[in-house]
Amino acid sequence: MRLQRHGVVVLCGFMLASAAWARKPGDPIKPGRNLFSTYHDIRIGEAAALQVRQRYPVVQDPFLQEYIRRIGERLAATPEARQSGFLYSFTLLNVPQVNAFALPGGPMFVFTGVMNATENEAQLAGVMAHEMSHVILRHGTHEASKAVGVQLVTTLLGAAAAAKGAAAEQLARLGLGFGANSFILHFSREAESEADLLGSHLLAEAGYNPIEMARFFEKLAATGNQGLQFFSDHPNPDNRERALETEIRALPQREYAYQTGDFARARSEALLILAGGERGRGSAVPVPLPVVPAASLQQLQSARFVLAFPSNWTANEDVRLSQWTIAPKDGLVPRSNGSPQLAYGAIAGYFSPTLGRADLGTATLELVGHLHDDRPKLQLSAAPQQRVRVDGAEAMLTALGNQSPYGAPEADILLTVVRPEGLFYLLCAAPRSTFPQLQSVFQQIVNSIRFSR
Ligand SMILES: [Zn+2]
Repeated sequence: MRLQRHGVVVLCGFMLASAAWARKPGDPIKPGRNLFSTYHDIRIGEAAALQVRQRYPVVQDPFLQEYIRRIGERLAATPEARQSGFLYSFTLLNVPQVNAFALPGGPMFVFTGVMNATENEAQLAGVMAHEMSHVILRHGTHEASKAVGVQLVTTLLGAAAAAKGAAAEQLARLGLGFGANSFILHFSREAESEADLLGSHLLAEAGYNPIEMARFFEKLAATGNQGLQFFSDHPNPDNRERALETEIRALPQREYAYQTGDFARARSEALLILAGGERGRGSAVPVPLPVVPAASLQQLQSARFVLAFPSNWTANEDVRLSQWTIAPKDGLVPRSNGSPQLAYGAIAGYFSPTLGRADLGTATLELVGHLHDDRPKLQLSAAPQQRVRVDGAEAMLTALGNQSPYGAPEADILLTVVRPEGLFYLLCAAPRSTFPQLQSVFQQIVNSIRFSR
């Protein structure tokens, strides 16, 4: 009897402990374990922000920058953001992909592609509230704390004390800069849920309907390719909309009626910039550098051929066109209708020449004409075609020129091979300025091609 009672007490104690640990909807959300001080968050963010400004074009249009800043400052005026002690900044970058990120300590960057993809101001504010929540919850340095030990943090103290430029380099080496393998930009699913929940508090306090954040993320996830880059930095938690509905029900009742009234104008100005570069500057959008292709390879196995490509690229089949697109995540740029356009990467597939069993040269020219339908700026370059061999078969390399989705000149290499099932082709494309960096990857893909017998 006594033992039993003791057992009950222990069990109750355990339940109380876990009840205190489990968070109820509407409760505050606090930052997790962190080896860094908030001072380090600020210094790390400053150094990474310098790298961002070197890599991406900042939108020059003062109305658009002001518009993003007005929404950001409304969110930064919420109690949670003020209590964080960070100074937030908001910058619109002219990049067509749907993405946004905030660096430790407060610098936030929004791509013009986000403005194109959102339906209303609450959705745009939702993306920004989610990003601001990563800063408040110090997710960047929290992730880094999990990955690096106390010793590395000590090294980092030295790096942060060094001159600004040197600090950026050293931080990047430690995975704390702005780069493909950085801890400060790649969050866990748990961090994503937290950023959603805290984001909903910020939105509600700012007067925006918080459910719009979940609606936007769910819509983006449903479009597939368009959200590729965002969800690779911010993994999509399950049932986002339902989790947020539960959270919002626990928040104090409010009317969500706030808006600046400038969303429609801002969105159409962003679309103009996306379509034709910035007005008044006249120059094309600078081309972002591609993510360095991984040295390790993975295989594309289709019924009629196999080939190998870098493990940090993906291959997607378009069944309708019976072709594969093989590209890094930032190699695809959405058109204004949302469908992806290849900026760097390759397209592999089969083409049926109308002339039936045409010779390689004739069939290749017909294919170029066919590709031209979808790419009006595509043209043959002056360089002579080259005969090569692929998997023992006779093949041809044709150099082409095009306009990159970034507006800059594009270089294309078209490989063609006559096969019993049609003309096999591999079109390798990149902006001319970055083509040399991808040439060895394209060569590697060509060398790996094997046809089914
Ligand atoms: Zn996130």
